[in-house]
Amino acid sequence: MTHVFPRHTKADLPVAVHGDGIYLVDSTGKRYLDGSGGAAVSCLGHSDAEVREAVRRQVDTLAFAHTSFLTSEPAEALADKLIEHAPKGLDRVYFVSGGSEAMEAALKLARQYFLEIGQPQRHHIIARRQSYHGNTLGVLATGGNMWRREPFAPLLIGTSHIAPCYAYRDQRGDETAEAYGLRAADELEAEIQRLGPDNVMAFVAEPVVGATLGAVPPTPGYFRRIREICDRHGVLLILDEVMCGMGRTGTLFACEQDGIAPDITAIAKGLGAGYQPIGAMLCTGAIYRAIEQGSGFFQHGHTYLGHPVATAAALAVLGKLTDGGLVARSQAMGEVLQSALEAAFGQHPNVGDIRGRGLFRGIELVADRETKDPFAPGHNVAARVKKAAFEAGLICYPMSGTVDGRHGDHVLLAPPFIIEEAQIDELVRKLGIALEAATGTGAAA
Ligand code: PMP
Repeated sequence: MTHVFPRHTKADLPVAVHGDGIYLVDSTGKRYLDGSGGAAVSCLGHSDAEVREAVRRQVDTLAFAHTSFLTSEPAEALADKLIEHAPKGLDRVYFVSGGSEAMEAALKLARQYFLEIGQPQRHHIIARRQSYHGNTLGVLATGGNMWRREPFAPLLIGTSHIAPCYAYRDQRGDETAEAYGLRAADELEAEIQRLGPDNVMAFVAEPVVGATLGAVPPTPGYFRRIREICDRHGVLLILDEVMCGMGRTGTLFACEQDGIAPDITAIAKGLGAGYQPIGAMLCTGAIYRAIEQGSGFFQHGHTYLGHPVATAAALAVLGKLTDGGLVARSQAMGEVLQSALEAAFGQHPNVGDIRGRGLFRGIELVADRETKDPFAPGHNVAARVKKAAFEAGLICYPMSGTVDGRHGDHVLLAPPFIIEEAQIDELVRKLGIALEAATGTGAAA
């Protein structure tokens, strides 16, 4: 009998009791290879000695100090180190407890920035279809995931959604990837014009799409065009790196590979690596100065801003990612994972696309790889993969959704950066068992 309110009230979940490297162990002793790091969280695995020690030391020294009164050494040190490694122009860090909070803070900061600089009419948010930016009301309204939005629609502010950059589905046969990317980016220009450029506050996007499409990277040049369009109209670019940031794609910030920097960005998940709940919003010096020289106060806040134990854990994590070389390892092992997936499933009749960057990889499942026809939604292929993989001792992150009326099933893989080659083989072997179980007899379109 449990009093925990589970995500699915009909689910009877095993109880996790132990973490051991890239494995989780339940109360029956069953081991699960954590092939998705939960939801791209556990970048260091589940038993990192240095992060555990950093948490213990911080609890023993200073567990909590409210940020209305005091800052703390780990929060200051973490902010310094993040800025040292952040894309050019990002200059200030605001620590919160997770991804949704980081994105909410980003939206409110963008709004307050325009009030401070005397452009109060700017309030409109443009994002992309099928996107996910969190579950609290402001960011739920920003996200373009209709299934998540629908029940709460009367509570959501109005936002616009343009197409994602999704070459597998939307690049035409007569088009280069670059030409497609520019065409996709130009939808932003059209939407800004439709709304009136002076009314638009921000464009919001994930550099590499995670939880809604399964590790879809942008085409070369897409984000450079997006940056140009935002600059031309004075619109802020907010990049959601909650899932794809912190080395997941092989660089500390995913947008580094696209040669651009945002005005505001949000990170979480890999920042605390699961050892503590923490997220952060980073903004440019220009935005910070507008507030500093204006009202002098960001009209926002939570009790656990800059929590000393959470920031101490994240500081230890960041040290391992940067000085400890784990971001580079994400890049290198990501190539190994991509090759292993291509070798195992490159010819699989139900695998349409294998994609991603670093240790952030996605597989798109289709009923027919030639026509790219998806499975019918009622076959619940993604859910079947999740169940079969779990039974085989593999945690992966299958998802399904609809973009522009087209159903899609995807499997996201985001293992800890410490994964070894033999463990990649184990992951791929277990995923193969799950794909057979889910796409075999009875699962055809
Ligand atoms: N943005 C993105 C891109 C995410 O993937 C998530 C979580 N899946 C969030 C925001 C929300 O983060 P959290 O669940 O920590 O609130």
